[in-house]
Amino acid sequence: MPVLEGKELRIVGFLCNWCSYGGADTAGVARAGQPTDLRVIRVPCTGRVDPLFIVKALLEGADGVLVSGCHPRDCHYSVGNFYARRRLEVVREFLPVIGIDPRRFAYTWVSASEGQRWQEVVQKFTAEIHDLGPAPRLEDAKPLLRLADMALTSLHPLGTGEKAALAELKEAIKAKLPELEFVIGWQQGYDAAHTVPLFMKTPEDVDKLVWGPLNVNNLAVYLPQFKGRKVGIVVKGCDSRSIAELLQEKLINREDVTIFSIPCEGVLDMARVNTELGRYTKIDSVTMDEASVTITADGKEHRFCMTECAQGKCYGCTTPGAVIADQRFGTPVEVTPAAHTPPELAMLDAMSLEERMGFWKAQMERCLRCYACRNACPMCVCRDYCISDARDPHWMSQGESARDKLFFQTIHALHLAGRCTGCGECQRACPVGIPILALRQQIARAVGKLFGGYQSGINPEAIPPLLTYAVEEPHIHERDW
Ligand code: SF4
Ligand code: SF4
Ligand code: SF4
Repeated sequence: MPVLEGKELRIVGFLCNWCSYGGADTAGVARAGQPTDLRVIRVPCTGRVDPLFIVKALLEGADGVLVSGCHPRDCHYSVGNFYARRRLEVVREFLPVIGIDPRRFAYTWVSASEGQRWQEVVQKFTAEIHDLGPAPRLEDAKPLLRLADMALTSLHPLGTGEKAALAELKEAIKAKLPELEFVIGWQQGYDAAHTVPLFMKTPEDVDKLVWGPLNVNNLAVYLPQFKGRKVGIVVKGCDSRSIAELLQEKLINREDVTIFSIPCEGVLDMARVNTELGRYTKIDSVTMDEASVTITADGKEHRFCMTECAQGKCYGCTTPGAVIADQRFGTPVEVTPAAHTPPELAMLDAMSLEERMGFWKAQMERCLRCYACRNACPMCVCRDYCISDARDPHWMSQGESARDKLFFQTIHALHLAGRCTGCGECQRACPVGIPILALRQQIARAVGKLFGGYQSGINPEAIPPLLTYAVEEPHIHERDW
């Protein structure tokens, strides 16, 4: 018999086989009254609860999700719930950025003998979900396309790299080339405002190398496919973090890769620049001075200050110099340590939950499902076996719904939890300019908060926080039921 009066809501419960499912059974055998809103899914261990289960349930119409397992130190598999605790905390921090109230998700520990505790947990959680009422649906959200003003404040001076030590770098690459198959860098691209990857095999190739704010691509994306071969790479600071992360995950060998670096002074956000340029048929030329870029399009000059049109990631960049390099050139750029919220994320922070859901609905309706965001990501290394394409299990349809597309972004963001270095390639590659980096930045913020300020791709020796656990988590304060 329902304990709560009124209409049932939909609550999905993931219970571990060994403790909480037993606890629910004990409550049942003792005839302890429970609300009937909960739909139980039995799992072998809370460690089996993929955070995507939670987001999928909430996006598909659940009003609440409850995960329950064995108490810490009582796990049947020793440490499954320790791993689970970290993932579940991260997913709880993620929910509000897509407009879902985090109070709709909770996790707890109930042993097989704690029938009475199980009854209390279910009653309290169900009552809380009833207080919140039925969950808002993405389908019903009011689309919001407005982009709030972004506060652009840099942690270090942005410039055009005009004084970069390019000549020295070229000489060093030429000297090292005989030991390497090739060195990856950038060359002038299909128009004056774009550069493209350059694979240098001869000294003549090295002469084509360019440096400056048009070198946007993160070339580290190529490295895993050349594992075991001797190659070189030229990096910006953020690219070097991708290399550190690839090393952490043993996706490349340190002894195989020679890293050349010049301190970076920021790269242009061409999406922002194109908005300013308006419609044009041809970019005629690009010239730079110390702090600005002048683009001539269809014969008309447009001047861009680097402080106003750099990529969002550059405004809070703490690593303009490489975190790991074999050969460094140029003068290091000074960084002012300060608490900083990336502009894309600050924009979402300023919105209500309802507005965020409307924002993502409107953005995802523009998404082409081209997966350029996934393919450009240097850390998205299982793209050939991506679960978004899987038919068994069938995680998502190939349909056009904003919900499916937002779920795909959730897959990418959560699979990069504790691994994403914020390089921004996903957003840069998006042909329709959807600000998806904010989803990754929210996770990076959660990881920093939960794991003592951890930043991915800084220390090649560190273990990414979601690939390990701590018995006592100093920064996780579990809910007191
Ligand atoms: S994030 Fe830092 S290193 Fe990367 S492009 Fe921007 S300023 Fe350069
Ligand atoms: S998710 Fe985006 S920001 Fe993060 S590593 Fe991949 S491409 Fe870079
Ligand atoms: S790159 Fe942009 S359009 Fe393509 S799948 Fe990603 S978000 Fe959608």
